[in-house]
Amino acid sequence: MTSTQKNKGQSKNEAEALTQANVADHRGGIVGDDGLYYPFADQVPEGGDVLKVADGVFWARIPLPWSLDHINVYLFDEGDSWSVVDTGSQGNRGRAAWEAIEESLLGGKPITRVIGTHLHPDHVGLAGWLVERYDASLTMTMMEYLSANNIWLGGTKEVPQHELDFLFRAGVSRQFESMIRGARFDNYRKGVHELPPKFLRIEDGSEIMLGGRRWRVVIGRGHSPEHACLSCLDEPIFISGDQVLPNITSNVSVYSREPQANPLAYWIASLDRMRGIPGDPIVLPSHGRVFKGLHARLDALIEGHVKKLRSLHEWCTEAKTPVETFPALFRRKVEGMDFYLALGEAIAHLHLLESLGLAAREFDGTVDRFMATGAFEEDQLLDRVKILPGVALRELSDIY
Ligand SMILES: [Zn+2]
Repeated sequence: MTSTQKNKGQSKNEAEALTQANVADHRGGIVGDDGLYYPFADQVPEGGDVLKVADGVFWARIPLPWSLDHINVYLFDEGDSWSVVDTGSQGNRGRAAWEAIEESLLGGKPITRVIGTHLHPDHVGLAGWLVERYDASLTMTMMEYLSANNIWLGGTKEVPQHELDFLFRAGVSRQFESMIRGARFDNYRKGVHELPPKFLRIEDGSEIMLGGRRWRVVIGRGHSPEHACLSCLDEPIFISGDQVLPNITSNVSVYSREPQANPLAYWIASLDRMRGIPGDPIVLPSHGRVFKGLHARLDALIEGHVKKLRSLHEWCTEAKTPVETFPALFRRKVEGMDFYLALGEAIAHLHLLESLGLAAREFDGTVDRFMATGAFEEDQLLDRVKILPGVALRELSDIY
């Protein structure tokens, strides 16, 4: 008998027993090659099953139709209802995964609150669907909610001219024009169910209750405009979203929407600020495995970008287009959809160098080229990034 069949018409006690049966606890962790501690070792939640992270806090996975094939979502028992953080992207597999969780864990109680860490489809793609299904509320930061709606409403079948201009200016060959025009510009709309017309706003320093505990909202920027992380004030738990992932580096890109953006400045400064998070919390990331070692991971992520900036500075002894900088930044050959992510990242690194006076831009009317200037002094880099316009947020100690 499957759990789905078993669940039909079950009593509350049966639902509770079933919940217990599907909830695995952690059995002893391991230290990975990366030096991080993984309390659940190699275990990850599959299908409708969940792993218990703490009392009333559960980790589940929703499959994604991309090369990054899953997102972690977290569920919080509120007594007579549930809260969830993040949702998966729109699609049948994601909806089926939620239905399986409903059967295995929810015990007949509704989800009344959906929290979206940020606007990306894998995070809020099913937020609108869950809100409709359970008459729940949606909680997000304002920049993420408004940007999500803006991108969703701006989705078009045809690739707009500003996108083409952006790609050509970065050094993409015009021979690809018809191929680029043949693509669509509504992927976001495909991956995201229409968002609810209203939301509850959280911002940097907000305090919310989740699963009977107090949580402080800590904003990270650069991967998305106002990404919410949640830092528990009553127990050492940190929900990191895409801001801190255990073995992949989150994409930090310049997009055609804001072609002169400097997101890497925000990103590095956000990571540095998170070094002020107290203690050694268990980290609940959006991808990969739950881990411990937040501070070591923050150091490694910052170091990784500094290394890339250095190699880019060394590479650009002659003026180079963003496309021509790939060999300095990526070890693997960049292909397919990865090309767009890589291009956005390359431009982000170049813009940061430019803003620090470490690269000069030449625009010949069609293509941007960047050439290294000045001396790359690693020990001053972070301090210089933090004083760039708009980058500084309040000291973390002021919001704890
Ligand atoms: Zn993301």
